[in-house]
Amino acid sequence: MSINAAAPHPEDFVTGRPFVFRNAIVITVDTPGVLENADVLVVGETIEAVGTKLQVPEGTLEIDASGGILMPGMIDTHRHMWQTALRGYGGDWALSQYFVFYYLQHGEVFRPEDIYAGNLLSALESVDTGVTTTLDWSHALRTPEYADAAMKAFEEIPGRFVLGYGNYLGAPWEWTAAPEFRSWVASHSPTDMHGLQIAFDVPDSENFPEKAAFEFARENGLRVTTHAGVWGATTDNAIDHMYSGGFMTDQVCYVHGTTLSRESYQKIAATGGTVSVATESEQSAGQGYPSTWQAPQVRHFGVVVDGHERLVERRLLLRHARDAQRRPLARAPRGPSQG
Ligand SMILES: [Zn+2]
Repeated sequence: MSINAAAPHPEDFVTGRPFVFRNAIVITVDTPGVLENADVLVVGETIEAVGTKLQVPEGTLEIDASGGILMPGMIDTHRHMWQTALRGYGGDWALSQYFVFYYLQHGEVFRPEDIYAGNLLSALESVDTGVTTTLDWSHALRTPEYADAAMKAFEEIPGRFVLGYGNYLGAPWEWTAAPEFRSWVASHSPTDMHGLQIAFDVPDSENFPEKAAFEFARENGLRVTTHAGVWGATTDNAIDHMYSGGFMTDQVCYVHGTTLSRESYQKIAATGGTVSVATESEQSAGQGYPSTWQAPQVRHFGVVVDGHERLVERRLLLRHARDAQRRPLARAPRGPSQG
């Protein structure tokens, strides 16, 4: 948004007063798409009109948005916000380097105030880059005190956040059974602005102990977000366990999904699951191409930013989609008419 002399002051925003953005580049993300020099009129909590030179009710607050882009808020479906406290580390690491650094060396020394600091910085960054909803895949919450610290940051930043409560330092069937965790969940009613999910992974194992964590989530009406199809960590066997246990539903989000088989994608699609992709970090970590083009039958994909460049992430995904679409054409034998 451009800054100009006529920019409104906070006190100009009075509850119930309509406001209009003037002369913005409006991206509607549907038809008609992009509108130049367009206005957006907001009355109460509703976008009343989008167009040029809009007539507005008397008393409407005018906001000059010339040179600015106005669009719906973006949604980041998976971010380890606490790690923003060490922002910039790991952009070029392989997955194993990430595991060693965060899981074995530094995650354990994080205190609640460090989680708060990471989340605060990350939440600010979200809003600053046009991301109005962020799912915080918060897997270093050793005690409810850590969860409170994570949530405190959300309350201080004007955005929508969903805490994916996790704890990589413990087994999910153990920490979801702990009385202090259960009473924390019981005392936190998710709201429209601050949601709650359960975040844990399902590595290969014979007896599927994560079943208990899925049951807890189901009993408490909480969605589950899980890293799936991560080479060497979570595989098709985990999907098989979840599927035969009846835990693959539309209440589960599968993060990455880069190494899953076609059958696993079909199970996700058939059960209404969602997939969250992070092509920048997946490629850096040697995880392969994004699952968006491998699993066209999955209806809902979200974009993840494991790194820091949200628009870069989207551009990369778009390039991959085009590559997948055009590769067969590029490889097709050329006929005489194609010269
Ligand atoms: Zn992750």
